[in-house]
Amino acid sequence: MNREKRREAVERQKRRARRERRALLLILLVLAALIAVGVFLLHEKSPAPSPQSTDTGSARPSQASPQTTAAPQETEAPQTTEAAETEASTAASTEASPEDESWKLVLVNATHPLPEGFTVTLKELRNGHHVDERIYPELQQMFDDARAAEIYPFINESFRTAERQQEIMDDYVASYEAQGLSHEEAVEKAHSLVAEPGTSEHQLGLAVDIVAEYDADSTATWQWLKENAWRYGFILRYPADKVEITGIDYEPWHYRYVGKEAAKEITERGLCLEEYVADAG
Ligand SMILES: [Zn+2]
Repeated sequence: MNREKRREAVERQKRRARRERRALLLILLVLAALIAVGVFLLHEKSPAPSPQSTDTGSARPSQASPQTTAAPQETEAPQTTEAAETEASTAASTEASPEDESWKLVLVNATHPLPEGFTVTLKELRNGHHVDERIYPELQQMFDDARAAEIYPFINESFRTAERQQEIMDDYVASYEAQGLSHEEAVEKAHSLVAEPGTSEHQLGLAVDIVAEYDADSTATWQWLKENAWRYGFILRYPADKVEITGIDYEPWHYRYVGKEAAKEITERGLCLEEYVADAG
């Protein structure tokens, strides 16, 4: 009897242990399933906030009601990462600035030809002219502000290829020859007025010749530019009092982009680009 009772007790214990093991297994299985579902949901959810975050401004008002519970958390988190990203990118650009800024101050004149292998990404203007795409926003702003001040500027010369520069030179030579000058005389006279291909600032895409629209008198336009162009990063490139340094006659229409910082200093100190570059270097 005693032995049987003991065996029964042992059996009961074993059964209980088996039941407990089974229960533990079940709990483990349920936990595993929950974790799996959780991981799946996280993966499903994480791409969702990013399309929202890219246009938070416009998306937020219309989507506010269906997503009231999720919105505060989800919109805040992507915003901070976005902010961090823009901070990082501006930090990177200011770090790289000494290299990046140099294109603005490239000196091209009779003794400083276009850099070897020079290339430029152009932006086409409405009237078919082209400029370096990096100066376009400030050029556009300058024109917008001029128009707001009832000044109507017009670009009649901008980026030129070396071939175009050669054509202009050839045209000048031909016209002087037609006037009766010898070829040598015509070439000499043309060279005093037109830059040799490879030495024209127009080949940089950073120079624009600006006159008044509709063939009007350009005096007021040039006066406005003289006073305001520096605010947009442009300088009067060939001032009347710098002819001996620039080697180019006064050209009230020719403006060169150098960036806001340099334009301000050049204008304030009454320098020409040759002087400014010599000072800086
Ligand atoms: Zn010019």
